[in-house]
Amino acid sequence: MLNSEESVRVVSRVLDKGLAGWVVRNRKAALVYDTRTDDRWHIFPEDEITVGSAMCVPFMSDGVVVAVLTLVHNEPNHFSETQLRVITIVTNQATIALRNAQLFNRIETQQRQLAAVLQSVPDLLFVMDEGGRLILMNSGAQAFLGIAKVEDATGRQLISFIERDEIFTDIQQGMEEAARSDAPVTLDIRSERTKHDYTVIVSIWGEARDNRAGYVVLMHDVTQLLNLDRFKTEMLSIVSHDLRAPLANIAGYTDLIAFDNQDNSQLMEWIDIIRRQIDRMDHLLESLLQKKKVDENNLDLRYGVILSELAKRVAENMMVDGNRKNHTIIDEVRMEEDVTGTVDAMLLSRAMENFASNALKYTPEGGRIIIRTYSDAQRFYFEVEDNGIGIPEDSLPRIFDEFYRVNSRANRAIHGVGIGLSLVKSIVERHEGTVWVNSQIGVGSLFGMWIPIEKK
Ligand code: ADP
Repeated sequence: MLNSEESVRVVSRVLDKGLAGWVVRNRKAALVYDTRTDDRWHIFPEDEITVGSAMCVPFMSDGVVVAVLTLVHNEPNHFSETQLRVITIVTNQATIALRNAQLFNRIETQQRQLAAVLQSVPDLLFVMDEGGRLILMNSGAQAFLGIAKVEDATGRQLISFIERDEIFTDIQQGMEEAARSDAPVTLDIRSERTKHDYTVIVSIWGEARDNRAGYVVLMHDVTQLLNLDRFKTEMLSIVSHDLRAPLANIAGYTDLIAFDNQDNSQLMEWIDIIRRQIDRMDHLLESLLQKKKVDENNLDLRYGVILSELAKRVAENMMVDGNRKNHTIIDEVRMEEDVTGTVDAMLLSRAMENFASNALKYTPEGGRIIIRTYSDAQRFYFEVEDNGIGIPEDSLPRIFDEFYRVNSRANRAIHGVGIGLSLVKSIVERHEGTVWVNSQIGVGSLFGMWIPIEKK
């Protein structure tokens, strides 16, 4: 018996010089009637047995020799062509069996991988065949169906679980729509049974080769996100409504104190500070209220508003505030009586004001600010250009996001909460327009918006 090291040596030797090597190279069987006269047979010095005749057959898989079988006899002319054919048939069969075993192994491995992937997905996942019959699911999905074993559901349609949860009516419709449109369908569904909200994605899978197809239903639990969103809306409403009334009270009493103490200059200075803080808070609350109004699509749209008039008013107000910071305000608003839009004038003015007040805020004393309007056949444009602190390039994509502020020392020194620009974007988009910004740090910024104008 050879140990493994010796076997490797013998095999590589015969593959190099011997008959097995010839068979591998030529990829066909060989029959050596007489080893003394056939030079395909090589006698190695250490051979212990005398060989008279031999037969060597390859195991072929996809045109590649994966193994060879050599039979030897000490007499010459021992093997016949018929025996060679029989052995060849046997090795062919053996090769098919070998290949099947390899494929089976591979499929088993892939199935284990797939099962691991299915289980590790935190969402609920159902896989069905073309008739909508369940083939696979993960443990989350199994728990949702309330079954002990996956086998209790395989072969059944999802709709047959309607008694358990009405959600399956909507999912069934989603599957029908996905089949009709041959595209994934996304649904937002709430299960009254579990009191959970789901984003459900229904996709089609297809196997062109054997014409098989089916559905994949993925249910992503979004309850927490929706709860947070509901909480945010509620908070916004409480904050904006319920804080405004006491704030108005504080402002009223502050005015009374001021009225009675006109000649106390120290007190008047402090009152001035209180008034500025009240204004700032009121402005923030108003922004929050307006944001809510815009998000809820609660616009007061009026036909025929002259758009340049709104811009003119913003520019005039800016002159006053700009002078206080020694800014030069350049009014390039072009009055165009015939350029009108169907807009919520109050909200659109607020959007323009936000661009303008930011330019005042983010430009150091003595800056230059231009307010510009123009129009073409379809659009009215409003721009505010400043030579202020500018915005770093990596902040630009997020500048219109809610509560986003540039995180720089220059910016931190200026008071703000990051709601102004997001409000502008929401307002302009509700008017079917677009906002944009060009900016360079230390050079300045240009904020712009356009909205569609009424057709004559
Ligand atoms: P806020 O001014 O309250 O922070 P905004 O939403 O109006 O909120 O602006 C978001 C951020 O965009 C600001 O914090 C600032 O970093 C930047 N920004 C806005 N306008 C300008 C401007 N004209 N120049 C430089 N930075 C600006």
